[in-house]
Amino acid sequence: MSAAASCQACGCVSREALPGLLRCPACGLAWRAEKFFAAPAYVPGREELVYGSSKKKLFAAALDSLGAGAGRPGRLLDIGCAGGELLAAAAARGWSAEGVEIEPGLAARAAGAGFKVHAAPVENAGLPPGAFDAVTVFEVFSQMDAPAAAAAECARLLKPGGLLYLREFNASFHLPLYRLELRGFFKPLGARPSVIHNFNFTPSALRALLLRAGFGEVSIRNSRPTSGDPYGSGGGLGTFFTAALKVLYYVLAQALWLATLGRVYAGSALIVTARKPD
Ligand SMILES: [Zn+2]
Repeated sequence: MSAAASCQACGCVSREALPGLLRCPACGLAWRAEKFFAAPAYVPGREELVYGSSKKKLFAAALDSLGAGAGRPGRLLDIGCAGGELLAAAAARGWSAEGVEIEPGLAARAAGAGFKVHAAPVENAGLPPGAFDAVTVFEVFSQMDAPAAAAAECARLLKPGGLLYLREFNASFHLPLYRLELRGFFKPLGARPSVIHNFNFTPSALRALLLRAGFGEVSIRNSRPTSGDPYGSGGGLGTFFTAALKVLYYVLAQALWLATLGRVYAGSALIVTARKPD
């Protein structure tokens, strides 16, 4: 269990915090004691919603940010590219886009759309160093076996000055919800709002992970929610009401972030940007 004993984000020693979850006392990273090498948690029948339509605005915001940071479109790698939805949006803006996807069905779909897809974990994909102007990672570090190795590989693959843009679930939101779920709090609604993966990152854990991987200019903010209710997590609340609650909650999370001068991130997901030093 040595892999489970030290924190992949900051290197600190862990202890069991919740049933089946280990937690780093320094940066707050929480990870599963078992299922450490599980397959990614894909969602049969909901791929289009989960990877495509619910994220259109998030992909557009990512490409706005990368376009402004890079000055002009260059070569982009999307890690966990699913069926190529972000790749298509990037290509439409002039980026030369390729992906990494280990789920064979999704990788085939992205390849069928005309994109180069590497079907191996990024650190084993044999990509050349310094080849990319931008790397995007949407909710993938949480599902990996070795996020520290993947973060280091992201830094290696980028050109000096290259940009990393990632979206990740916020453990500071999901772990308290998970505790309430364990106590049966949401049972009357049939809702399961918490998202627990192999790795559950707090803002501090993401910052530590990227700094240790060699990134600079690490910046974190609450993410806008996905559109609708792609995972059906609202249960009996229904899609419309769940979507409205998500937007209301995002506004409240932003208000709290401003009121605490950027110290408290309550959003259900985070956007992190970073740059490889020149
Ligand atoms: Zn840690």
